[in-house]
Amino acid sequence: MAISFSLESKAALVTGANTGIGQAIAVALAEAGADVALAGRSEPTETLALIAATERKAVNIKADLSSIEPVGRVIDEAVAGLGKVDILVNNAGIIRRDDLLQFSEEDWDAVMDTNLKTLFFLSQAAAKGMVERGAGKIVNIASLLTFQGGIRVPSYAAAKSGVGGVTKAMANELAAKGVQVNAIAPGYISTNNTAALQGDETRNRQILERIPTGRWGDPKDIAGAAVFLASPASDYVSGHILAVDGGWLAR
Ligand code: NAP
Repeated sequence: MAISFSLESKAALVTGANTGIGQAIAVALAEAGADVALAGRSEPTETLALIAATERKAVNIKADLSSIEPVGRVIDEAVAGLGKVDILVNNAGIIRRDDLLQFSEEDWDAVMDTNLKTLFFLSQAAAKGMVERGAGKIVNIASLLTFQGGIRVPSYAAAKSGVGGVTKAMANELAAKGVQVNAIAPGYISTNNTAALQGDETRNRQILERIPTGRWGDPKDIAGAAVFLASPASDYVSGHILAVDGGWLAR
């Protein structure tokens, strides 16, 4: 095939890959040929087993990404385990829901720190090696709330809008150095992050009525976009936010 979606000989680092979207992406990158380092605070037992089944190498890096304190160590351990980081997927993220008028500083800072500050500084740390090699891919997990405000999630909307901004900012400085930075904006995907919404009968019905595809997404629905943005097939895609949302934004 002339166009390559292969990740053979590539090394990827995925944050928050013990479950949900991060797990689906980590496994898909391995299936496409990459060795994968997983960085997160929970044991990624299931993900390690799924990667082992692809016969690619997997490295587990224990790190709480709620602050930037472990950022340098995460990159060092990924390089020690896999030799380099060609692909970084910034997936780890949290959400805090509360009414606007009582939204707390703690819920503001926690979401901004994990979802935006760590994403930027981990990207900065990974980009140094990528720039040295003249090649690399950074894929940020954004959200529909990169484009919309949502309901009862102001710090999440702010952080994910910020992810859109830093994706473009990083892309602008790194594209000429051979590093593509892009983002994926998942729609409503069935994971721990959205369990509360799915459990709320009214919100669940309202959400389903608005999705043209008529169903919640599965984490695996995000994996193809991640492989594309990590592969040579996307070498001329830079600063793009790719919605994978069952058509939500088109309505
Ligand atoms: P999830 O199942 O809750 O996964 C979130 C991942 O982030 C978990 O691995 C979690 O680890 C990790 N994480 C959270 N805080 C962390 C910290 N301080 N240090 C290290 N790891 C941490 O939810 P998901 O839906 O797959 O979310 C993945 C990404 O997609 C997030 O950025 C989310 O905002 C985004 N997203 C999701 C949807 C959706 O509909 N589900 C839509 C748009 C965007 P633990 O298991 O230890 O908490």
